[in-house]
This record gives sequence, C-alpha cells and structure tokens, in this order.
Amino acid sequence: MAELIPGVARAVSPLVRRVLAPNPGVMTGPGTNTYLVGIDEIAVIDPGPDDAAHLDAVAACGGDRIRWILVTHTHADHSPGAAGLKERTGATVMGFDERDEFKPDGTIDEGFCVEATEFRLRAVHTPGHASNHLCYLLEQERLLFSGDHIMEGSTVVISPPDGDMAAYLDALRRLKKMRIRAIAPGHGQLIDDPLGKIDEYLTHRDEREAAILHAVEDGAGTVDSVVERVYVDVPEALHPIARHSVYAHLLKLKSEARVHGEDLDGEWRPAVR
Ligand SMILES: [Zn+2]
Repeated sequence: MAELIPGVARAVSPLVRRVLAPNPGVMTGPGTNTYLVGIDEIAVIDPGPDDAAHLDAVAACGGDRIRWILVTHTHADHSPGAAGLKERTGATVMGFDERDEFKPDGTIDEGFCVEATEFRLRAVHTPGHASNHLCYLLEQERLLFSGDHIMEGSTVVISPPDGDMAAYLDALRRLKKMRIRAIAPGHGQLIDDPLGKIDEYLTHRDEREAAILHAVEDGAGTVDSVVERVYVDVPEALHPIARHSVYAHLLKLKSEARVHGEDLDGEWRPAVR
C-alpha cells in the first residue's frame, strides 16, 4: 500500500489520487485524506484544514482541472480548506449545508451527482457522526469516499446532539446494500473489504450497546460509571471521548424505551420491564 506521507500525491486507484494533510492526532489518525477524483476534470473530496502548504499541494496536483470541491461534513479537519482551495482554483464548493464557517456555493443532498467526462460521483446522505455527513460513491470503481462515517484503524465518535447513534447504524446498514468494492476513508488507508469492515462496525456497536445496557441494569447510574465498567479495553486518556459515545448509545436505548434518563451528566436507570 502507498505510504501516508503529508503533501505527496499518491494514486490509490486508476481515477483517484490522495494527498494527506499534515494534521495527525488522536481524532485524525495519520491526518485527513484529501482525494482528487478524475484526470481531465477533477472533483476534490475534503480539502481538509486551512493549511497553506496542504492546499498548495492539492492545487499543484490538480491545477486548473479542479472543477468541484466537495466536503463530507463540516468538522474542522475536513472543510475549512474549501475557501482557500477555491481561491487557488476557482472551483465550485459543495456540501450538505452552510455551517461551522463552511460556505458552499451550492448545497447538495442524497442522490446529487457530479457528472464529469470520465466519472460519476453520487452523494449518499449518511447522518450519525455529523447530521450533515455525506459519503460519495464513485460509480465507475464502486469506490466509496466515507469521510468520518467509516475510518481505517479506529471506530467513529458519535457525539450528540449532532451525532445520532440510531441514524449512524441505519446509514451503515444502507451502505451494506450498495455493492461497494472498496472504501476510501477520511483517515487511514484504503479499505478493500468494505462488507467485512461494515460488519465489524455493526458488531462492535451491538456489543457496546449490550454492555452499556447491562451496566445500567447492574446499577451504573451515570455516563461516567458506564464508561468505567464498559471501556476497560480503551486507554483512560480516551474516556472523555468515550463518554459521548456512551451517551449516544443511551439516547438510542431511551428511544427504544429500554432506559430512562436525560442528559450527559444526569442519572440513568433501566426501564422496568
Ligand atoms: Zn475527520
């Protein structure tokens, strides 16, 4: 597999190149992947952070053939580079909505297609990690650009209220039916076993949910005490992040009338059955 080195364009498929942004971290793994789709006409997916060297590298790779700039969602590691890349290329910026200082030229939704001479790129609305999250399917290669919906090397943080566990799992199940050949994630390497990866995610969430429900039934009455009991396999430094995922699971369980409770810092108890 091509190494992940910031600023160096790498081919990941016949139609797709990747430039890694220099923003490695706990939440971003090796950094954000910016993808260039197409050769004669190019769509950029996730320009990444507003980093001049990174945007220069992307512009150098695509030049004035960059026609579209698409974002998967408006988190700080994915969309802020859109304005700077537009300045460099004149391309049209598109995303689900205007938010978090992201200002698209046009908003797009489920089913929107970029029709280029060599390829077709279709938007798939996948709320869960962020309510405005889109994945993009490159139809010619059945390659899915998954943003932060699916990552290589880790699971995804679901942080309510914008994050929604039930919506997240629904969107994963929808992707399973789409005959995807490979996944190009927002962080990490290409995933060439998409169904295996999606099943791994679904199983992981099922197990977590069962453990969280069991912990509440066993008397863990707060998010913190659930984290302590359930996230024994996760380093303590990540427990503040795990709190949000536990809360997301509790809200899903609440919507199914299996637990009672209100908020992140409040009391939770099992529903009487
Ligand atoms: Zn991200």
